[in-house]
Amino acid sequence: MMSDRRADLHIHTHYSDSTMSPQNVVREAVKSLLTCISITDHDSVAGMPEAAAEAAKSGLEVIAGVELSSEHGRKDVHILGYGFELKKSPLVMKLKEMQQARMDRMKKMVAKINSLGFGEIRFEDVASRTKSDAVGRLHLAQLLVEKKVVTNIEMAFEKYLGEDAQAYYSKYKQTPLEAIRLIKDSGGVAVMAHPMLTSRDEIIPELVRGGLDGLEVYYPNCSMEVANFYIKLAAKHKLLITGGSDAHGAGKKSTYIGKAYLPYEHVEELKKRIHA
Ligand code: AMP
Ligand code: ZN
Ligand code: FE
Ligand code: FE
Repeated sequence: MMSDRRADLHIHTHYSDSTMSPQNVVREAVKSLLTCISITDHDSVAGMPEAAAEAAKSGLEVIAGVELSSEHGRKDVHILGYGFELKKSPLVMKLKEMQQARMDRMKKMVAKINSLGFGEIRFEDVASRTKSDAVGRLHLAQLLVEKKVVTNIEMAFEKYLGEDAQAYYSKYKQTPLEAIRLIKDSGGVAVMAHPMLTSRDEIIPELVRGGLDGLEVYYPNCSMEVANFYIKLAAKHKLLITGGSDAHGAGKKSTYIGKAYLPYEHVEELKKRIHA
């Protein structure tokens, strides 16, 4: 019997590039009748204690999560980690270095933007948009909109911040295989985030050989046809299926908590793999 319990395993907080606190995320998830969530901030796990404390009040299940950045060529490949050890694991120990690389890279991006003739962007005004050191392009894009350098976030990425645009710099140098290894060495399961956006399906077999556990199949604005394609691909490689909204609060208006969700049966499968 399929239950109608739903999980959202891809949510950001203000510890990366969402505007929401972990407490607000948990309250919103409860309101949306979700039974399980994971907070998956970019290169940060800072939201976990607050989320766990808030979730204890309602019994919402919270699975430890993170969205690690990696690169294949110049292309960003995001690897989601779930259920890893939080105390002194190789993954958690590495996050400081990744965040430092984000700060260094943002200084370069700001300098580049200013060199293009918008000499009024201050690094501090970008960095203060997150409560951790996981500063990112969405923060800078928001500031560029506020300063009327561009009219919207999409244009900020298209003209300046996208991977082929003029003010783009890469982050911490890490391949998808290295990100997967870090998660696995910390007792977690590794999932390729939003493959339908990443468009690097050709590397999936290699990632599977490197320990990849799953594909994120349920994702906002993804057609059933595309989801079914990835469900079949997951079955072919004996991979887990996951899903979530990739909610960023007011940071990304195209999605919200619970917009895409995972039938809970798949969470049971995920937990079996975490404990295996
Ligand atoms: P970063 O981790 O600093 O490289 O920034 C990547 C993040 O920027 C993604 O996770 C999204 O939240 C956001 N992002 C990337 N491309 C776009 C886009 N075209 N429009 C809006 N947000 C984007
Ligand atoms: Zn983001
Ligand atoms: Fe992502
Ligand atoms: Fe995300």
